[in-house]
Amino acid sequence: MNDQTVQRAESLDKKDPLSSFGHEFEIPKDATGNKLIYLCGNSLGLQPKQTKDYINQELDHWAQWGVDGHTKGNNAWLPYHELLTHQMAQVVGGKDHEVVVMNTLTVNLHLMMVSFYQPSRQRHKIIIEADAFPSDRYAVESQIKFHGYDPEHSLLLWEPNPETGLCEMSGLEALLSEHDDSVALIMLGNSNYYSGQVYPIKEITQLGHSYEAKVGFNLAHGAGNIICDLHDNDVDFAVWCTYKYLNSGPGSLGGVFVHERHSASYDLPRFTGWWGHNKETRFKMRDSFDPIAGAEGWQLSNPPILSMAAIRASLDIFDRAGIHKIREKSIQLTAYLAELLAALNSDKIRIMTPLEPEHRGAQLSLQLRDSDRGLHDALTHLGVVSDWREPDVIRVAPAPLYNSYRDVHDFVQRLNQCL
Ligand SMILES: *Cc1c(COP(=O)(O)O)cnc(C)c1O
Repeated sequence: MNDQTVQRAESLDKKDPLSSFGHEFEIPKDATGNKLIYLCGNSLGLQPKQTKDYINQELDHWAQWGVDGHTKGNNAWLPYHELLTHQMAQVVGGKDHEVVVMNTLTVNLHLMMVSFYQPSRQRHKIIIEADAFPSDRYAVESQIKFHGYDPEHSLLLWEPNPETGLCEMSGLEALLSEHDDSVALIMLGNSNYYSGQVYPIKEITQLGHSYEAKVGFNLAHGAGNIICDLHDNDVDFAVWCTYKYLNSGPGSLGGVFVHERHSASYDLPRFTGWWGHNKETRFKMRDSFDPIAGAEGWQLSNPPILSMAAIRASLDIFDRAGIHKIREKSIQLTAYLAELLAALNSDKIRIMTPLEPEHRGAQLSLQLRDSDRGLHDALTHLGVVSDWREPDVIRVAPAPLYNSYRDVHDFVQRLNQCL
């Protein structure tokens, strides 16, 4: 790495149509005030500068109006979640009535399985990826047990190819053809949080449906990162969080997609609450539940407005930048990262994430050889924020909204120092 490589990074930044968005985020600094190289947006996205204003506005409304804030002003709290719907639907490729922001991710996963996992003695199995995020696995196992089945027989793992660590469609096809009409649900984290691999949503959904299984995705690492096209890809349901690529703050609310073919399926079992009830009669406090058609009908509670204000602030940025433009930059930015890593020519790191754009998002997972956590600690010491996953993986995710080519360049330079 030399002056020339720096110049190239800077010229790529100059040509980047999204480069100005970087100034709209708070970039964490070290003790001496130098900006850190933040490559951890797959874990917790950074704070947009306008988030404070959006939250303060609701604090002011609460201070001024008390309970009347529910109905007063341009962003009255009663329909506040509706302010998020259209922009969120754009991000994941759903129709507005297919998308709602509510609860948190694992809660939503359970709510969706209540409706879309209806095991019978014939059809009771759920397929997840072998390296599923632990919370997903716990949730799925507990649903199986809740219905009186045994995860030992009812949970199937889509195992990766041991050579590459990646899941292959042929493996999923083999699993389905072996277990055939006993598979009730395919539920995959996309992209996979560990390997960074993106699974093909359309092909998997078609395949699952051809076996009459339901297909759902956990897009915790997908929303705001890859193009999901949930409606066109015919996915039954999806859930995601908003604190990773969607930059809406720690523990912020999650999103849910329910395909419109299920929007009026009132015979589907579901857990219900008053926020899913017909808006016209919600406050008449009638005895019988009258669900709203579409994803909103799965809402339970009146939502936390302060968290929704942070989501609004972030979605405004996604709206201005456009998810397709963001993805376009991400493909290039991460390709640039892969290229610089390859140029290091080090046998100490192996990129386990597939490099073809259709099989990855922003994240690359770097598997270390003959090295350990010490390398990650050294990187941290040099001002890089990345994340370590046992036993031997460093995950780095340049976020196209606020990371620059120069960030990527400087990261690889520091990694090289550590190697
Ligand atoms: C981040 C993440 C979660 C976290 O779930 P919460 O309910 O928000 O704590 C779950 N699953 C996956 C795949 C994730 O990436």
